[in-house]
Amino acid sequence: MTTFAIRQYGDPVLRQVAKEIEEIDGRVAKLAADMLETMYGTPNGVGLAAPQVGVQRRMFVYDVGGGPVVVINPTIVGVSGEWDYDEGCLSVPGLSWPIVRPGSVHLSGLGLDGNEFSIEGEELEGRVLQHEVDHLDGLLLVDRLDDERRREAKATLRRR
Ligand code: ZN
Repeated sequence: MTTFAIRQYGDPVLRQVAKEIEEIDGRVAKLAADMLETMYGTPNGVGLAAPQVGVQRRMFVYDVGGGPVVVINPTIVGVSGEWDYDEGCLSVPGLSWPIVRPGSVHLSGLGLDGNEFSIEGEELEGRVLQHEVDHLDGLLLVDRLDDERRREAKATLRRR
């Protein structure tokens, strides 16, 4: 197994839209295993998207306590409710902001076996699903802040 260096805020790879995975082969399985290894090796790591390790493909891994989950080519099918949560990101270490997003998320995607499955994520799980899909679209949590807090956050990140 290999662990990756996690790409940090400011790396252009985090701002690109990732491409769909067309063939789920051994390379994809190895990438998933290495992403999980990387995530578990990082304090507070509950989710990791492929662009965060420099791979422009639509895949992420997460574990909110129920064991590892690998999702390929995910689609958010529906959302409902609202949930306020102090959200952080492994690509923006040491910083977090309270962000309101839908509290329940229905997501579908493919597993490593190529079969489609769906997840109903509530609260933390729902938040992770939304956060990781954002990564695949080149979005970061600072993009989810209101204007004033986004300006403050960008100033903080620039000072680093
Ligand atoms: Zn993140």
